[in-house]
Amino acid sequence: MMPRLIPEQDQVLEMLRRTGAFREGHFVYPSGQHTPHYFQMPLAFRYYDTARVLAVALSRKLRLEKDVSSALPKVSIISPSPGGIPVAFAVREALSAEQIYWAEREEGKRMFRQYVNAGEVHPCVIVDDISRTGTALQETVELVRALGAQVIGCGVIVRFRSSPANLEVPGSDPVPILSLADFDAKWYDDGQSCGECKRDAPVEHVRF
Ligand SMILES: [Zn+2]
Repeated sequence: MMPRLIPEQDQVLEMLRRTGAFREGHFVYPSGQHTPHYFQMPLAFRYYDTARVLAVALSRKLRLEKDVSSALPKVSIISPSPGGIPVAFAVREALSAEQIYWAEREEGKRMFRQYVNAGEVHPCVIVDDISRTGTALQETVELVRALGAQVIGCGVIVRFRSSPANLEVPGSDPVPILSLADFDAKWYDDGQSCGECKRDAPVEHVRF
């Protein structure tokens, strides 16, 4: 197969649309917020081909970071949650990185399970399928640092433009959050302010 370049943002969104991972419409969340778009990123990663194209593209962007390319293959790919495991797994493979770990939330707190021991973890690249607020990525920085490991890179498939462009890493330079597509998310606090409601667009209630 011919090596593919990193797809343009429009191509990425088209791929997400085709797989159902990105939908446009009129959605209402349990919080009462309304939005004209809905991302369910695992839907893109259920297909081997799509998962591979997206992960290879993200890995190419990561490889362009000198801190990442010079550390490979002794690099850990870290997902902030189990939801990011398909991306982390595919990026690990594309980069030939040696390790993958993922955090989980327990009693409201993000943590690694007992299988992760301080001192064993290579320098880390944090990856996720989507960054809506940047909070999950930033919390993962703290976890990685608590293990005594370094954060050398970060990448997501989709980044909401309202979320930070960098991870703050105490004691070192900020780490840019690389992305394949940047997206202007629209949120309305309620139906009164919602543009879709004004147009009487049919509503779909979503769970999260
Ligand atoms: Zn609405």
